[in-house]
Amino acid sequence: MSLANGRHYLAIPGPSVIPDRVLQAMHRAAPNIYTGALVDLTTTLVPDLCSVARTTGKVAMYVANGHGVWEAAVSNVLNAGDTALVLATGRFAVGWSEMAAQLGINLRIIDFGLRSAIDPDRVAEVLTADKGHQIKAVMAVHVDTATSARNDIAALRRVLEDAGHPALLMVDCIASLGCDRFEMDGWGVDVMVAGSQKGLMTPPGMGFVFFNEKADSIRDTCSNVTHYWDWRPRAVPEDFYQYWDGTAPTHHLYGLREALDMINEEGLEHVWHRHEVLAQAYWAALESWSTDGPIEINMSDRESRSHAVTAVRIGAPNGTALRDWMTAKAGVTLGIGLGMAPAGDPAWHGFFRIGHMGHVNAHMVLGVVGALQAGLVALGIPHGKGGLEAAVEVCATA
Ligand SMILES: *Cc1c(COP(=O)(O)O)cnc(C)c1O
Repeated sequence: MSLANGRHYLAIPGPSVIPDRVLQAMHRAAPNIYTGALVDLTTTLVPDLCSVARTTGKVAMYVANGHGVWEAAVSNVLNAGDTALVLATGRFAVGWSEMAAQLGINLRIIDFGLRSAIDPDRVAEVLTADKGHQIKAVMAVHVDTATSARNDIAALRRVLEDAGHPALLMVDCIASLGCDRFEMDGWGVDVMVAGSQKGLMTPPGMGFVFFNEKADSIRDTCSNVTHYWDWRPRAVPEDFYQYWDGTAPTHHLYGLREALDMINEEGLEHVWHRHEVLAQAYWAALESWSTDGPIEINMSDRESRSHAVTAVRIGAPNGTALRDWMTAKAGVTLGIGLGMAPAGDPAWHGFFRIGHMGHVNAHMVLGVVGALQAGLVALGIPHGKGGLEAAVEVCATA
């Protein structure tokens, strides 16, 4: 029988769970967009966003999803004919680079495959060989949401420094901001993009480009940038209208204000640590189940695993069967595998992903682990014993 009635839990890697506080903050009549509370509120978002990104640089806010700010970031600093070095660890770095290619950027891609993080030594080889500094930017994803790889961004800055290479370091933190430790200034990141709907716990529809002075000085020489994507007026607006180049995303702003308050109340370090422990609870369960049968965490190296999302291999058709069972019988929706097998290929049904980003706590994680274990039993998918107990142990001893 179905036991799904009750509050449904969307445990996919974005959009993430929207806290009731954020929903309630958004539940209001349309505000004045010219003066008053909304205008005052918007200026308060800027320092808080920068503190979540750990930067004293600037942030430009857009009415856009992650794809929008991908384009914004590239168009402010790269011209047609420029070369970018793309470090691919899954679908998302590839998607960002395809967008850059359409803007006329030449791509040099190092593909690290679907199961490993960026190897800084291979990046060093390419940058050291680039004596003429043809490469204008290094593009990387902090957490690739498809593979759940987490890349060592600080190591990339060291590689650039060791090679004496002036390329910009551009990082996609759409899946990791507010989940995994990220230090924009401390790690020497020049441009960083993020969205509202993952660690920032707000509905999709707002995007952010953070940038430092070095990147902004390159913006001066960039002819690619179009009116809408120009980060300048958004980062140093002379009036409220310039933040948005049109109507403000009114309700998102109230929601985001509340979400940032929640992050501030908990403390960013605690937010990161909570994500780490909850991720470890999932890993403990999955590793126990993987001792027998088809289950395997996609990223075998713990150091290279995201704390916001976990991609799992379980063999076709088990992935789809388990996801369907979870939704229909247990009231939990898990993420599909992304970029692991071509759509239409039977192997596509051999994956699932768990989102554990943002507004997630121990009982939600233990609930999903328990429901997963029930699903494995119900569907007769072989698995090692003790998964739930292992996750309980992680939470109990944290
Ligand atoms: C979700 C995500 C994106 C895309 O964001 P959209 O809002 O869906 O356009 C890009 N990069 C990463 C790492 C993501 O997790």
